[in-house]
Amino acid sequence: MRAIITGANGQDGSYLAQFLLGKGYAVIAVLRAKTSNLENHRILDIDDQVIYASADLTNLPSVIELISQHQPTEIYNLAAQSSVSRSFQEPIDTISYNVVTLLNLLEAMRRVGGDIRLYHASSSEMYGNVDCLPITLNTQMRPASPYAVSKASAFWALSTYRESFDLKAASGVLFNHESILRPKTFFVKKVVAESVQIYLGRRQHLEVGNIDIRRDFGYAPEYVKAMWLMLQQPVQKDYIICSGRSILLRDIVTYVFEKLGIDECRVVVNQELVRPTDIDDIYGDNASAKEELGWQYAVNFFDVIDEMLAHELALNVVRT
Ligand code: NDP
Repeated sequence: MRAIITGANGQDGSYLAQFLLGKGYAVIAVLRAKTSNLENHRILDIDDQVIYASADLTNLPSVIELISQHQPTEIYNLAAQSSVSRSFQEPIDTISYNVVTLLNLLEAMRRVGGDIRLYHASSSEMYGNVDCLPITLNTQMRPASPYAVSKASAFWALSTYRESFDLKAASGVLFNHESILRPKTFFVKKVVAESVQIYLGRRQHLEVGNIDIRRDFGYAPEYVKAMWLMLQQPVQKDYIICSGRSILLRDIVTYVFEKLGIDECRVVVNQELVRPTDIDDIYGDNASAKEELGWQYAVNFFDVIDEMLAHELALNVVRT
């Protein structure tokens, strides 16, 4: 069992690599650059167990070479410009990178042949503001950001390749999921990290955008198990992976502030952090994943916040 993971040093790539190593896989971790940050791998203590490889995923010959050389049984395509906020600043780069990299992988699989299965990291963001919740695979997509456009385009590209060329490929439509490895540019980690700085007297305020919106939040180490389960099925199809309930962003701030004894007046709305378009509420239906994949998920998201908070406090106490 040999797995190629693109975006292998990100949050999900790191947890997935750890999970697959535990199952006895040879894990080929594809990095964007020789200088890519391996901190997540060091935290999980897997940096001496994975095989590092570099490839230009925007270049088809480079992707063909990667697959021919390593002959994977499974490919997990997680590399992406993954920030919705950043996609408004870099719309063309986000859309082109996130779509072309998947197209190159699909095309390389078609040309190289062999028995390879591909998982692609799709996103709930592609549904946008919907009329009816929970979201299922039948919900109409109304992408509301360049990131969402990229994920929707990639979703349909994969589906077209799967049907046209009989490829074993599937999209996991994942809703937000967090962990100690999440970059600080993402909301929950930002709230946790900056609140700890306020608690330690190193910062005055927590700047937020619109926190009167709701998201379906989950726990990354459990979500990567669903990715693997998807590729173990006899026939590859898409699945929604989510917790099944949404949480108000303001409630996350309140929870963290209460834990650290910080007054609510320290929250400041910065209009620059308010997105040009946003989704009010979103949560999904994970019944198919639970019934067909046997994926089990029963994590209380406030326990995840507790873990992130404990990690951030420990990091800062060590640094003090
Ligand atoms: P991260 O942001 O933690 O990791 C992204 C990875 O992609 C990194 O390894 C990064 O490499 C690499 N990358 C390659 N090209 C680019 C680029 N042009 N810009 C930025 N990064 C790039 O993402 P996650 O692990 O959280 O997510 C994995 C996948 O799942 C992504 O495709 C994401 O869009 C998708 N997803 C994530 C959700 C979540 O809540 N986490 C929800 C739904 C979908 P480098 O270190 O060199 O920057």
